[in-house]
Amino acid sequence: MAENEITDENHGLQEHRVFQPPKEFTANAAIAGMEAYDKLCAEAASDYEGFWGRLAREHLDWQTPFTKTLDESNAPFYQWFNDGQLNASYNCLDRNLLNGNAEKTAIIFEADNGAVTNVTYRELHQRVCKFANGLKSRGIRKGDRVIIYMSMSIEGVAAMQACARIGATHSVVFGGFSAKSLQERIIDAGAVAVITADEQQRGGKSLPLKAIVDEALALGGCDTIKDVIVYKRTGGDISWNKGRDIWLNDLVDNQSADCEPEWVDAEHPLFILYTSGSTGTPKGVQHSTGGFLLWAALTMKWTFDIKPSDVFWCTADIGWVTGHSYIAYGPLAVGATEIVFEGVPTYPNAGRFWETIAKHKVSIFYTAPTAIRSLIKASDVNPEFHPQKYDLSSLRLLGSVGEPINPEAWMWYYKNVGGERCPIVDTFWQTETGGHMITPLPGATPMVPGSCTLPLPGIMAAIVDEAGADVPNGQGGILVVKRPWPSMIRTIWNNPERFKTSYFPEELGGKYYLAGDGAIRNKDTGYFTITGRIDDVLNVSGHRMGTMEIESALVANPNVAEAAVVGKPDDTTGEAICAFVVLKGARPTGEEAKKLAAELRNWVGKEIGPIAKPKEIRFGDNLPKTRSGKIMRRLLRVLAKGETITQDVSTLENPAILEQLKESA
Ligand code: ATP
Ligand code: MG
Repeated sequence: MAENEITDENHGLQEHRVFQPPKEFTANAAIAGMEAYDKLCAEAASDYEGFWGRLAREHLDWQTPFTKTLDESNAPFYQWFNDGQLNASYNCLDRNLLNGNAEKTAIIFEADNGAVTNVTYRELHQRVCKFANGLKSRGIRKGDRVIIYMSMSIEGVAAMQACARIGATHSVVFGGFSAKSLQERIIDAGAVAVITADEQQRGGKSLPLKAIVDEALALGGCDTIKDVIVYKRTGGDISWNKGRDIWLNDLVDNQSADCEPEWVDAEHPLFILYTSGSTGTPKGVQHSTGGFLLWAALTMKWTFDIKPSDVFWCTADIGWVTGHSYIAYGPLAVGATEIVFEGVPTYPNAGRFWETIAKHKVSIFYTAPTAIRSLIKASDVNPEFHPQKYDLSSLRLLGSVGEPINPEAWMWYYKNVGGERCPIVDTFWQTETGGHMITPLPGATPMVPGSCTLPLPGIMAAIVDEAGADVPNGQGGILVVKRPWPSMIRTIWNNPERFKTSYFPEELGGKYYLAGDGAIRNKDTGYFTITGRIDDVLNVSGHRMGTMEIESALVANPNVAEAAVVGKPDDTTGEAICAFVVLKGARPTGEEAKKLAAELRNWVGKEIGPIAKPKEIRFGDNLPKTRSGKIMRRLLRVLAKGETITQDVSTLENPAILEQLKESA
């Protein structure tokens, strides 16, 4: 082992707190206890194809059964179940009508202003069929790409399902993206239509959608677009392009509520989704129908332990993969009742999440560390919005996704939201993986704050060095997946070369899927902890450290709400640590900032060791984040160096913050 590597002994994420799954939970869990987990893992290890073939037959309905499970002949362009045919919308809707869920509530829509609309599976099926027939009436066919640029709504989910029903490949673009980003995605996807709304409602404000579509199309190059379908959300003023634009109502009202699903091969592209751009220019990730849907459904059962009586709430937007797997497809594929939430966590106040949980008796709640950290900060400032002020007794399971959750944020979530009775599933996964990869199972895995624990059965995750060789537990390295799995990315749309070089690099032998994240496994438990993006590993005087450990040490300080750490070149130490910090209180300046910076430096020195003391600390009101709420460390690296940002900032949420972070304390 190289000297000064990240190891169990020296890395700051040493965590000794262990939380057992509650006994009552385990008693009724889909995967009950570690023995059940081990058994599934053993099945996958002894007969990999047999394992996946069995699951695909048990959890999906096939129009034509597949005979071949995995085709590796054109690796890394793997194919799963491909001589089988199915339809995703059939699996999410029709089969619920056939198995007694017709009158069950499929979606509880909670609007920005608190208004509630419910739809049953029967109603959703009708809406989707009419929508699908409407799309067909405009000549939209199997294989066509359709852009969906909408905010959270029943119609947004219906639009995705309608595309799936006719075999059109959707590409959802988050409703916060600019005209330029939208135009780029339209062109890259070669889309034939855009489905949008007149406006969206967020945090009490009406914000444009259709106007941005108009602007995107006016930027040029979008000649493939024939139709713009507009859902009337607010009734606000919009301009109209006759012949091109059509109201959703006018398109669907007179359509038949019967629509035979288009049976597609399992490999048929269900959707293209652009990644969030934390590390570079977004990639158009292409997903299949069969493999994707299998994992969306199965992880609902395994990770979320979904039961018929659950009310499931995933707070992600349908513009992100989490909203695809755990709003648009997964919950419906297993006949669940789910919340679709239009608003924001802080409107009308920072108690909105807790109030909504109480109002709808949510039992499973799935959100992102960025939301948790901001609500910790908010409830610190105003205790009225502390989760303990609300009746959260309906909750039985919590989840986290999107970034590593700092142990202190985990503890807060566990205590104050989960009342110390709800397991937390810290789900590590990516747009490219289609569903959860490494996560605790709520009725089996003992939990350790800040660790995503163990891979799901069938997911051959491992940690290797830069040459692709296994590293022993207790030593940090590169996270890979050694075998293809059904819900994996199929290619980057329009760019198979980038697919190969990004995810199956020659340096690792061309066979392992490269996640792009660094990780370490605990020596004793084998638990995984994500240490940060590969690019983010710091090397200070020859000591390798993950950004995550320093950030978590900072967040453990009672004054700190959020922190991001990057390296900058340094003559003496090779790399020096630069920390960007958001305090729970106001942003300090002048002497006060200097004093606090010194305090925080010592704090980190005590928590991890003197080598991890940030050389520089900068305070901001916030950090630069992607629109999905992830910290964009690549921009912070540029700022730390004192250089001008020339990189792609199209997915940056809050550009103004960059100015503030130029100066050190
Ligand atoms: P881009 O690929 O364009 O840089 P992105 O990686 O942020 O964007 P996503 O696919 O949405 O886009 O995010 C996946 C990444 O999020 C993972 O690679 C990992 O870094 C991080 N992540 C997600 N969930 C977790 C988790 N539970 N623990 C640690 N990291 C997580
Ligand atoms: Mg990524």
